[in-house]
Amino acid sequence: MANANARHAANAPGDFFVDTTCIDCDTCRWLAPETFHDIGDQSAVHTQPTSPADRLAALQALVSCPTASIGVTQAGSRAALREVSPSFPLLVEDDVFYCGYHAESSFGAASWFIQRADGNVMVDSPRFAAPLVKRIAEMGGIRWLYLTHRDDVADHAKWAGRFGAERVIHADDGRGLDVETRLTGSAPHELAPGLAIYPVPGHTQGSTVLHYHDKFLFTGDHLAWSKRLDSLYAFRSACWYSWEQQIKSMESLLPLRFEWVLPGHGWKFRAGAAEMTRQLQKCVDWMRRK
Ligand code: SF4
Repeated sequence: MANANARHAANAPGDFFVDTTCIDCDTCRWLAPETFHDIGDQSAVHTQPTSPADRLAALQALVSCPTASIGVTQAGSRAALREVSPSFPLLVEDDVFYCGYHAESSFGAASWFIQRADGNVMVDSPRFAAPLVKRIAEMGGIRWLYLTHRDDVADHAKWAGRFGAERVIHADDGRGLDVETRLTGSAPHELAPGLAIYPVPGHTQGSTVLHYHDKFLFTGDHLAWSKRLDSLYAFRSACWYSWEQQIKSMESLLPLRFEWVLPGHGWKFRAGAAEMTRQLQKCVDWMRRK
């Protein structure tokens, strides 16, 4: 829980607040945009939540904040928080869930969970938080812990140890990591029927994305939705390996059909398949101008 004595002056008066330890990871802003906004290099409360839906979203942001920078002052909110904490992972659609509980060690990256009859998949690593561990166990544990790239691995060892999960990462990002499976080369890899991993070097040399059931694309830090640009985009200023290569990798995704972009950083995005292809082409065109 955040420190009320370090409450940022930019917060709207009231129950919810952000303190000055915020690392500007963006999570609260996409999870509860009716409450939190960007004040430059940190977040603050722009409007105190009043509706049940907005209060719930703000509490979910509090639980998910990687640095415990969000707080509440009223006893009623603290009581509600005890009900919200075990509610993760949250359903996205079908059998895909958002884990919450972002980890500071991955700079607050989002992680995702797929509940499947022949083996669940965790996509990147959330914080190893007791309420989430309990819920993941109730949902059948983890068969594969798929890691999109080296930056968002957080508590992977604890998750793998608890559930006996097979950790999968591309070898070009796996150096120094204790994992079970290292993918090599540039060809797609079928993890299981309907689950394919595509190498997308660029952000890092070993970045990959996971394509699931022609509907979901888990993109790590390769691709995300920008609220500010109102379009799909890639992190030009956080491209650690090769921008030219990342453009080629982005183009390689154009033939894929999907309706969801579920990233590590940045906002998630949903559109019909044809509109998604149009948005992706627009992103490629934008990247070529950068
Ligand atoms: S989730 Fe926490 S660290 Fe991230 S922007 Fe919001 S207050 Fe800051």
